[in-house]
Amino acid sequence: MPPPDEPDALQQASTARLRAERRLATFEATTRVLAEARDLREATPTLLRTIGEGLEWDHAAMWSVDRVGGVLRCEDLWQADAAVFPEFASINRQMTFSAGAGLPGRVWTTGTPVWVPDVVTDANCALATCAAKEGLHAALAVPILVAGCVLAVMEFLSRRILAADEQTLQTAMGLASQIGRFMEQKHAEDALRDSEKRFRDLFEDAPIAYHETDTNGIVRRVNRAECRLLGLDPADIVGKHAWELLAPEERERSRDAMRGKLTRQVQVEAVERDYVAADGSRRTMEIHASLIEDKDGRVVGLRSAKLDVTARKRAEAELKKAKEAAEAASRAKGEFLANMSHEIRTPMNAIIGMTELALNTELSDDQREFLGVVHESANSLLTLLNDILDFSKIESGRFEMEAIPFGLRDTLGQTLDTLALRAEQKGLELACHIRPDVHDALIGDPGRLRQIVVNLVGNAIKFTARGDVVVHVEREQETDDRVRLLFTVADTGIGIAADKQQIIFEAFSQADTSTTRRYGGTGLGLAISSQLVAMMGGRIWVESEVGSGSAFHFTAQFGRAAAVDTRPAADLAQLDGLPVLVVDDNATNRRILDEMLTSWHMQPTLVASAAEALQELERARRSGNPYPLVILDALMPEMDGFMLADRIGKDPNLSAARLVMLSSAAHADHAARSRQCGVACYATKPVKQSDLLDVIVTALGEQVMTRRASGRDAAASLTSSRPLRILLAEDNEVNQKLAVRWLTKWGHTVVIAGDGREALAKVAQDGFDLILMDVQMPEMSGLEATAAIRAREASGERRTPILAMTAHALAGDRERCLAAGMDGYVAKPIRPEQMFHAIEDLNLCPGEPRAPQIGDPLDESELLNRFDNDMDLLREAIQDFLEQCPKRLSTLRDALGRSDADGVTRVAHALKGAAGNFAAHQAVETAQTLETIGRQGLLGDAAKAYTALADAIERLKPALLDLRDRTRA
Ligand code: ADP
Repeated sequence: MPPPDEPDALQQASTARLRAERRLATFEATTRVLAEARDLREATPTLLRTIGEGLEWDHAAMWSVDRVGGVLRCEDLWQADAAVFPEFASINRQMTFSAGAGLPGRVWTTGTPVWVPDVVTDANCALATCAAKEGLHAALAVPILVAGCVLAVMEFLSRRILAADEQTLQTAMGLASQIGRFMEQKHAEDALRDSEKRFRDLFEDAPIAYHETDTNGIVRRVNRAECRLLGLDPADIVGKHAWELLAPEERERSRDAMRGKLTRQVQVEAVERDYVAADGSRRTMEIHASLIEDKDGRVVGLRSAKLDVTARKRAEAELKKAKEAAEAASRAKGEFLANMSHEIRTPMNAIIGMTELALNTELSDDQREFLGVVHESANSLLTLLNDILDFSKIESGRFEMEAIPFGLRDTLGQTLDTLALRAEQKGLELACHIRPDVHDALIGDPGRLRQIVVNLVGNAIKFTARGDVVVHVEREQETDDRVRLLFTVADTGIGIAADKQQIIFEAFSQADTSTTRRYGGTGLGLAISSQLVAMMGGRIWVESEVGSGSAFHFTAQFGRAAAVDTRPAADLAQLDGLPVLVVDDNATNRRILDEMLTSWHMQPTLVASAAEALQELERARRSGNPYPLVILDALMPEMDGFMLADRIGKDPNLSAARLVMLSSAAHADHAARSRQCGVACYATKPVKQSDLLDVIVTALGEQVMTRRASGRDAAASLTSSRPLRILLAEDNEVNQKLAVRWLTKWGHTVVIAGDGREALAKVAQDGFDLILMDVQMPEMSGLEATAAIRAREASGERRTPILAMTAHALAGDRERCLAAGMDGYVAKPIRPEQMFHAIEDLNLCPGEPRAPQIGDPLDESELLNRFDNDMDLLREAIQDFLEQCPKRLSTLRDALGRSDADGVTRVAHALKGAAGNFAAHQAVETAQTLETIGRQGLLGDAAKAYTALADAIERLKPALLDLRDRTRA
């Protein structure tokens, strides 16, 4: 190889060195430009010039990728000399390249640099013509890549035609990659800045108060929301301990908690704290804190986000206050109810008790009538009061149901007993039918069941003029421990119009307001009943037709009890002479109880307080005669009835006494509390004399029977030498009960008449061996009734012995009774033994059945013989006879009218046979007469004979009805 031309070679070498230096300088200059630039756009003009000059190009342009338009756009360009072709620059600036088009487009697509020695001859150069005009030839385009993606293309042009030069190419690529890295970094910085900004905006604009502290609890950052909430500037908060912002009393607690959290000793959880704002107002915040950790998991601070719950807290506090106020109001209402109940019942107690006592004394007819009205009105008022109290208790949700064992049949039986009198007075049949498969021992609230039945049966009686009222009970569903029963109360009364059948169950609703005046009532009964039924898990409805009657149905759920305590009640005889302690702070109550108890020959001792009661109990015990029975008032000052009952129950020396609690307050829990204190029976005041008797007898139960079966009660073991049929004329229910129990015990049969007039009617219908006649009775006094009976007997009837009964007998009473035609005299209150002997002393035909009297419509003993004592058959026969009679008599009349002798004979014969069944001798005789007349065809006397027969049958009817009723039991 020939040696290079010396000076040429030297020049070349120095040119090469020079170029290398320039390239280096260009690198350095580029680095500087980029280091100072904020972004590529700002750097581009300087870059193009620096690189263009450094690499000896005459024209440089930066094309950047417009992603939205999908083209390359000229970002900027640089030219070394003033342009020969002045439009070249502006054409370039407006020019865009799509992918693959022209030199920049090609580089954008391929991502690799392209060197064109002469663009004028290059077919794929869009600006070739322009370049030619400008005198440009060689071209180089290099891509600027960021993460392998072309973001821009740098283009260089030269006035010379240049073959590709590796070094220039390398340098240009090196610079492009330097710019690429710059862009990459700028992108990252932008992204970071964006995210920081977003985070800061979030932090500042968040509606939640937020701050961060360092490990000392000093606030380092706080957001606008927190500043706004506390009315402070960030400067007031940052740099302070976080707890300094809290209400003074919260600070210490908060500081300890924060320190605990920062040292991970206290669990970080949401808390509520009070803050004080700049204006002094307090705000309650719910704070959600979390630890700030560095990348190694070390705690570097605490962040806390706070929700302002002041409004919520205030609402909660107000709600609580409102609830407490409502509860207090409801308590006040309840207490008011209880107090009112007590206040009203106390005088009611006096009115009812005192009238009952007064009615047992010697009174003139007027006085008796007046007091009777007072008594009845007081009872109605009490019923009304109970209804209203019940209703308001249900309304205010204070009504409580009991769950105690009871016997269904007993409960219903007793309930209907109390209604029987009313039914009887209206001449209505009252019957109760409980299906045999109905479980008897139930758990539930017998008192409330009774209340429903009393309401339904009471209504049925009220709204029925004739016919019957029937209570029917059947099983609807039964499991091992529960039963659902279906009760029906059906009547044959006025009925209820279809459109009223719903509303009568609403409070104060009555089917027909015009009947209100006729039938009375408040319209509350059914409303209460339906609430009670609902509380028993059942429902109530009615089926009714106007004019035909109504059937009220209700279902109720009960628990099944294994067996109910069915200890026999104490016998009344056991009460005679029994000591009883009465504890009541109210003097009127004591007086009433004293009189009632004395009337049963008990020996009451009365005390006014629990303390006295305990003393008296102790005294009696020490003297060897402890009280077997204590009657306590529930509400007494100092020590009340419950406390006293508790004391008695816990004292082994006194606990044998049976306790009866009387309460006049409407406290739902009194019954339950009584039971807890070991009280045997509980009753609400005012207590009727008959109810008190029941309560005492039940409370004593077997206990007294065994205590006193030692023979002191001679009367109980007596039996009459001859069972008599006795008419008891007595208006007082308790006396009726007492007398009936004794008389039946001695073997007699008793029929009751409620007043003198009724007694007179019963005597006319039926014969009695003896009449026990109360002297003072409503309607007609005993003396008047006796006089009337004696007057009737004067016309030849058999004389029935009459024993007078009168209370508070005055001197001369005996004489007056005897003068009125009575045969003897028993003083009231009745002493059983005395009564027994008074009856026995009359020596009433011992052992001889009474011969039928001439006037008797039927011979009862013969009749019973005839039916072989089959009462069912007898009742059926009576029913048939009563139904057939009117028809037969009218057929008979028709036959007589037609002078149809055969017809008369036939019907008279039939009637004779029918009456003969009942040993109705008169009817048989008169029928026989008529039959004979018919047979002989002598109808001239027939009309008289017919009248005699019709009369005999007319007299027979009441006797048969009475017999039917008596044999029903
Ligand atoms: P009260 O009987 O005090 O008016 P209730 O709520 O017991 O109140 O009865 C509401 C009304 O329903 C009665 O006034 C009456 O119109 C009607 N009613 C209830 N039971 C019967 C019945 N057995 N026969 C006809 N109407 C009845």
